[in-house]
Amino acid sequence: MTGRKFLIGGNWKMNGSKALVDTLVTGLNNATWNTDEIEVVIAPPAPYLDLVRSKAKKEVNVSAQNIYFEKKGAYTGENSSEFLKDLGINWTIIGHSERREIFKESDEVTAKKVAFALAEGLSVIACVGEKLEEREANQTTEVPSEWTNVVVAYEPVWAIGTGKVATPQQAQDVHHEIRTWLAANVSAEVAQATRILYGGSVGAKNSGELQKEVDIDGFLIGGASLTGDFVTIINTRA
Ligand code: PEP
Repeated sequence: MTGRKFLIGGNWKMNGSKALVDTLVTGLNNATWNTDEIEVVIAPPAPYLDLVRSKAKKEVNVSAQNIYFEKKGAYTGENSSEFLKDLGINWTIIGHSERREIFKESDEVTAKKVAFALAEGLSVIACVGEKLEEREANQTTEVPSEWTNVVVAYEPVWAIGTGKVATPQQAQDVHHEIRTWLAANVSAEVAQATRILYGGSVGAKNSGELQKEVDIDGFLIGGASLTGDFVTIINTRA
């Protein structure tokens, strides 16, 4: 036993509608899992956060997909930690590869957001990408002082939304490297306690094999989180 609670995260990206919220949240509300062993976090688009939070049962954690590193002001189009707290939402994803690639968010901006979100008392799913050099650079600048609320998501860019999932061994190897990096650069305790999620074309057909790997502490799921597969993945773990 690793002592780490398995986290199953759903990133809806820029997809949704009130009808889809109803379908997906009803599916989750009807599902059951052992909350001592499994944590479920869903990240709908910002305009639906309030609706999802108000409909979902308390065992379902709700997350933003991104926030800015200021509380308020002249930052048109951005989301604030204050809004999240006002809505009873205490998670955010930061540094998803789509933010980095499409919206050109740098490691520096990502690092500032992670630090800011943690200081605001939010839990963070911090995403890191494929290349070792990049990953090390990201984490060096992102090293937060408080690790309790950080979950790392390893998402090889080539596997996101492509249907090409990493093999369990490929994912395990990288997760192990990340844990080794944490031990060397932060501490053995943080390395042992930090959850490392795999993301990239996870679905009902491959979650069972992936979750057997000792350093895979959960998933960040895009496409399949918009379907009944998400509950199947929870049931496969439960
Ligand atoms: C993601 O966007 O975080 C992701 C892993 O997407 P998908 O599951 O669709 O590959």
